[in-house]
Amino acid sequence: MTQPPAGRDDARGVRFRLRCWGARGTLPSPGPKTVRYGGNTTCVEVRTRDDELVILDAGTGLRGLGLHLTVAADGTQHTAPAHLFLTHQHSDHVIGLPHFAPLFDASAPLRITSGDATEQQTRTLLQTLMSPPLFPPLSEVTERVSIASFENGTPAEVGARCTVHRFPARHPGGASIFRLDDGRTPGIAFAPDNELDYASTDAEVIAWRRGLTLALHGVPILLHDATYSDTELAQHRGWGHSSALEATRFAMECVAGMLVLFHHHPDRTDDQVDAVVQECRQLVSVSGSSLRVIAAWEGLSLTV
Ligand SMILES: [Zn+2]
Ligand SMILES: [Zn+2]
Repeated sequence: MTQPPAGRDDARGVRFRLRCWGARGTLPSPGPKTVRYGGNTTCVEVRTRDDELVILDAGTGLRGLGLHLTVAADGTQHTAPAHLFLTHQHSDHVIGLPHFAPLFDASAPLRITSGDATEQQTRTLLQTLMSPPLFPPLSEVTERVSIASFENGTPAEVGARCTVHRFPARHPGGASIFRLDDGRTPGIAFAPDNELDYASTDAEVIAWRRGLTLALHGVPILLHDATYSDTELAQHRGWGHSSALEATRFAMECVAGMLVLFHHHPDRTDDQVDAVVQECRQLVSVSGSSLRVIAAWEGLSLTV
């Protein structure tokens, strides 16, 4: 593998390394107008301090990650365990699974943990995606994948130092938000599909958002749903997504270090995403906040 050994990161104080393989939501959107931010759907690679591989969501971006893992510079196959966490089972978050090359390497252990589904539901999803009529029958592949869930409510451990906490998102059919901690220190929060709904006066919604703000307080990197503009949002209340300005407001309330706008609308061109970022930075500026705002693109690498 081309990744630096964990010891070197330890010396630099790096707790997590993140790389984005897909930042789009809803539907892949390849084409000349989405070249810079990319058209693949949601998939993020995270390396822990111990160099454990955590994958957040399995959209079409997962295919590129799989190729990267199996076609290492030295020609070796990837055999380290991969820990895949699914926020939910909407197609843009799972459709890359049958095309994840390490699945076909019997020596590459894969564990899938669903934030919002039982182990049986996740097993059924995998079997459905990899059997007729969607795919050739591949039960020998799906059977060797290990499946886990948050059903008992306890956080998931990845290696000795990474803990993945799960919080409920507001999204039709349910979805999860993950917070990855190194030891007891928060590192990355991942909320690709989440309706913040600042327009709501419902006490339950306000209490839920306050609880989420506390859960994500002080997180250095927050990737958050920024599907809509504020104008579009009015037509899409209840659809389970937020506007980029809502995500910015929420990130400031969380006192996050950096907001990474995520789950871009499939119709949003590169130039439009640029404009969205500028608009969000303006809000940060007038609010007197030190929050940094960027929009996720394929290939984006961050450390914390
Ligand atoms: Zn989505
Ligand atoms: Zn969804």
